[in-house]
Amino acid sequence: MYFKDHTYYNYYVNKPLEMIINIGWLSYEHFYEMGDTEPEFIEKLTEIIINDDFYDYKFNRIRCNTSCRLCKESILQPYINKKRNALMDMPLGFCELLIPSQVNNQYYASPGLILHYIRDHYYKPPQEYIDSVMALDLTQPFNAQDCFDFVRESNQVKLR
Ligand SMILES: [Zn+2]
Repeated sequence: MYFKDHTYYNYYVNKPLEMIINIGWLSYEHFYEMGDTEPEFIEKLTEIIINDDFYDYKFNRIRCNTSCRLCKESILQPYINKKRNALMDMPLGFCELLIPSQVNNQYYASPGLILHYIRDHYYKPPQEYIDSVMALDLTQPFNAQDCFDFVRESNQVKLR
């Protein structure tokens, strides 16, 4: 699914959600911003994706692993599962990420594959997205699915 950066979230809902902004929904048919990003940003984004214990920034999980829109590969992110004390693989194409904006009271919605787009396809997300990820306090609990459902229901937006 392709959405231009900074458009209102409109994925499987009956009308756009103005509180949720699309970031990083790339497609090979569309130009995207490229450039280097700081290793600290990639590290923090990885941390957010592989952890979902105390905080959980992932929502709209699906059972299959959607492949990359650019290289068509299924992307797995290796990580240490602390509960099982084992090296495991996290599929990046099975969920979306919801990041609270530091600029205003909106949220950014991205595919889990955004990590792969940044790291392997040199996608450079808008600076406000980078700043918002860097500003996240990972000592605080967060539940992306509850947050998304609340925004959707309070705006009387239904799932399609
Ligand atoms: Zn790819």
